[in-house]
Amino acid sequence: MAEKKQIEIDAVDTGQLKSLLDILNIKSGFESGEYHCELCGTVITYENTKFIFPRPNMTVGFVCKNAACVLDFALKEESDKEREVKTE
Ligand SMILES: [Zn+2]
Repeated sequence: MAEKKQIEIDAVDTGQLKSLLDILNIKSGFESGEYHCELCGTVITYENTKFIFPRPNMTVGFVCKNAACVLDFALKEESDKEREVKTE
């Protein structure tokens, strides 16, 4: 099975999410509402975070737990994988 790049957060476990944000040094920005869902633009909070994934320049992206966003993100990841396979 292919290794997944994004870090899936159990949204119930906000303690885990908080420590991850601390490690990434973005906790204060997160709590000020500076981060938005990559797909729908909703402000990301502890309550609605579904995925955190690495982005270029040492930043991270977020996806909220809106079902449409979760599905879109999963499909996008699938197509990225297909592209990787084709280039190799
Ligand atoms: Zn969203």
